[in-house]
Amino acid sequence: MNLSPDEVRSRLEKGNKKYVASLFSTLDTSEELREYLNENGQSPYAVVIACSDSRVNPEAAFSAGLGELFTIRSAGQALLEGEISSVAYAVDHLHVGYILVLGHTRCGAVDSVLKCAKDPNLAKLLGFVKEGVAGENDPRKAEINNVNFGVRLLKERFPGTTVEGAIYDIRSGLVNWLN
Ligand SMILES: [Zn+2]
Repeated sequence: MNLSPDEVRSRLEKGNKKYVASLFSTLDTSEELREYLNENGQSPYAVVIACSDSRVNPEAAFSAGLGELFTIRSAGQALLEGEISSVAYAVDHLHVGYILVLGHTRCGAVDSVLKCAKDPNLAKLLGFVKEGVAGENDPRKAEINNVNFGVRLLKERFPGTTVEGAIYDIRSGLVNWLN
């Protein structure tokens, strides 16, 4: 899909309005579409980097069917090596020009950083989120800082793309862009 960054954003915003109004039950996952994508390959219009939290579902939140979003998920939407490589694949090989870093309210990864949780298995992941949170103690502001950190990092790494940040409210379902 050859959409400008503004067109992508407006499509995502419209999709989210539909979702919030609970009109999203017609996500296109049809047999026809599967057949089309099988024959023609994918050309998603956006990369979405979201938290793995089970209360966040990017495709549903944007009323997006199969083939629309290239979604990467990790706890706290931490951008470690694998996540960055996945973005690189979408940008370099699928020519996606719009990237959205999607944080959310009540993020457990951000909360763990605020509570100074220590778990050697999570060291790299929490290290990323800690850098993102940048010493902020207020959970809402910390979530925003963490999203902006991802945005800055991706803007630097993928200069030809549009990178934006947003927060998904797990209570209302609303996505609020940070810019
Ligand atoms: Zn989270």
